[in-house]
Amino acid sequence: MRFYNTLTKTKQEFKPITPGKVTMYVCGPTVYNLIHIGNARPMIVFDTLRRYLTYKGYDVNYVSNFTDVDDKIIQRANEEGVTAAELSQKYIRETKKDMADMNVLPATTHPLATQEIDGMIRLIRDLEEKGFAYNVNGTVYFRTRKDPGYGKLSHKNLDDLRSGFRDLKVTGEAEKEDPLDFVLWKPKKEGEPFWKSPWGDGRPGWHTECCVMSRKYLHATTIDIHAGGEDLIFPHHENEIAQVECATGQEFANYWLHNAFLNIDNVKMSKSLGNFKTVREVGEHYDLQVLRFFMLSAHYRRVLNFSADIMEAAKASLGRIRTAVSTLNDHISGAKSVPLTEDEKRKLGIDEEGKKIPFEFKKDPMTGAEIWPEDMRRFRLEFERAMDDDLNTADAETAIFNLVKFANVEVTAESSREFAEAVKKEIVELSDILGLIVDVREEDLDEEIEQKIAERNAARKAKDFAKADAIRDELLAKGIILKDTRDGVKWERK
Ligand code: AMP
Ligand code: ZN
Repeated sequence: MRFYNTLTKTKQEFKPITPGKVTMYVCGPTVYNLIHIGNARPMIVFDTLRRYLTYKGYDVNYVSNFTDVDDKIIQRANEEGVTAAELSQKYIRETKKDMADMNVLPATTHPLATQEIDGMIRLIRDLEEKGFAYNVNGTVYFRTRKDPGYGKLSHKNLDDLRSGFRDLKVTGEAEKEDPLDFVLWKPKKEGEPFWKSPWGDGRPGWHTECCVMSRKYLHATTIDIHAGGEDLIFPHHENEIAQVECATGQEFANYWLHNAFLNIDNVKMSKSLGNFKTVREVGEHYDLQVLRFFMLSAHYRRVLNFSADIMEAAKASLGRIRTAVSTLNDHISGAKSVPLTEDEKRKLGIDEEGKKIPFEFKKDPMTGAEIWPEDMRRFRLEFERAMDDDLNTADAETAIFNLVKFANVEVTAESSREFAEAVKKEIVELSDILGLIVDVREEDLDEEIEQKIAERNAARKAKDFAKADAIRDELLAKGIILKDTRDGVKWERK
């Protein structure tokens, strides 16, 4: 398995520190509003990496934080007249709901920055004692010039950066020794949450939190994988490396993985342009499995464009897999329970006893090309080949489509039940590694609708008509029409 490592700018063979185990940290969102579909990209991509590593037999410890203290949180809380803690707790709940709806597994641990302040103070003190940090009137800065490795992740020319920062120095940052020095601890301002520290009341800088939470919950000084969106390479991850490596003298993480950005209609998504979409909004029009399918339809290091057309295409593609599974379900319930025929065994690539025949690639002596199996084993090999090559989920989806084509051709009304079941199991298992749920039965959908109706009834009772209307519209978008009758709410499919 190879990953592109931002640190070395090459694809490298993945070797975990402890055989059979993976420690992995993904920078999580700052929780001051509903997450947007850009935030969903690292969540879905790295959840898929985690699922794949687990599939490969690794025991994965996956940690992802919530940044629950930050200028934006404080500002938003003040605007809404609630405390920063109330606001962040609300959005942690909402984020977890969106994650569940996208079939993103909960992390092994989701630490909160505000619960880890002691550890951050200890790290900053350690850096101060070793001469890597200095205090100016209650603000503690990291002394970048003292760190010989600074810049190794972002591969930036530090002199250019310094000259770029020169203007800043004039505008109030004169107390820094170097324009590249960054804040580890900032003094409190009126109306802001604060903690006691050796440098006075205040709060830690953002970069410090991940240094502490990652190693604490992964129980390691050096971790295997550290990941996030590519905007985090500089300064966030560069500054994390600086702190940890200067404090411990050891590497922080062996593999640094970064996803490219998500654009909307070919334009960068940003709040100032007003063109961002929340996961919640998308969920009103689409099953969020469609969003997941769409996110994985491009390689994670390529810019991905979100548009109505592309989402419709993703919906149709996911629908094709689901239709194939549903057809297989019909075959299974209608098929004869007879032993597999010799032909079926051959098509599944299994021996007399029903065991998978191991496969080894050989080269065609004439052309030098690899010889692939002609049977169903082929698709899992294609899938793994794609995923092993820096998590190429786009090609992994293609492997599933090839398997679906095989299913559509090979499984007929004449097939044995066992054959249809084996083919279905293969589609469901490969899709599941991508976090895609493709065996959707009508009963499951019915249950989901009933639950939504109950939610709407509760909202109406609480006189939250906006929410009640939103639920009705959400169901309508999925083709479900609600009718208020004397016997309660009834529903039907459009
Ligand atoms: P933030 O809450 O801004 O710290 O972002 C949380 C995560 O979402 C980080 O890993 C960001 O890099 C990532 N992210 C934010 N916007 C986008 C985007 N438009 N496309 C892809 N990833 C993004
Ligand atoms: Zn981080």
